Amino acid sequence: MTFSELGLSPKVLAAVEASGYTQPTPIQANAIPHVLARRDVLGIAQTGTGKTASFTLPMLTLLESGRARARMPRTLILEPTRELAAQVEESFARYGQNHKLSMALLIGGVSFGDQDAKLTRGVDVLIATPGRLLDHFERGRLLLTGIEILVIDEADRMLDMGFIPDIERICKLIPPARQTLFFSATMPPEITRLTEQFLRDPERVEV
Ligand code: AMP
Repeated sequence: MTFSELGLSPKVLAAVEASGYTQPTPIQANAIPHVLARRDVLGIAQTGTGKTASFTLPMLTLLESGRARARMPRTLILEPTRELAAQVEESFARYGQNHKLSMALLIGGVSFGDQDAKLTRGVDVLIATPGRLLDHFERGRLLLTGIEILVIDEADRMLDMGFIPDIERICKLIPPARQTLFFSATMPPEITRLTEQFLRDPERVEV
């Protein structure tokens, strides 16, 4: 299996080549075609398997059509910690080096003002921790009705950190006509219940 067989756009393939990757990892080979087909995906994979690129690469391809509008981000990636959120932003920046996409990182410990200015200009890729995302939402600075793709990453760590009520609330704020990509290293009953509630006929990819 090569990256060029997966259906990714030429811009994304150029960035993959620049990263020095020769072959997709199993989660990438299995998940990318489903994401490109706009299916919901349940990915059961640990960190270190190439999980991040399995959603960032096809999302970049899908984002090539359409434009961001003020206060209405097009995609939302939820991460349990600031550090993971920052790493995912780095991945989007690296793999999106040939794209002109706008990104914002909504995490605690950073001023609201800078984050808010980015939201006003329009954001293609919003990466956030659940608490800070809801802070912006409650201040009326953010609309979640334009989200085309929602990613819930590291769901079992979200559970450990007590974020499930926040995740449920956010999922209910985003119109159901979205695509949802859900990743967890393990599947405890609370996480299974969440996938049953918020994923639509998902493709299950396990590595
Ligand atoms: P992740 O599981 O997303 O945290 O990725 C783990 C590491 O694997 C990261 O440092 C990536 O840069 C690297 N990586 C991701 N995909 C590939 C690939 N297809 N070939 C080689 N390295 C990769």
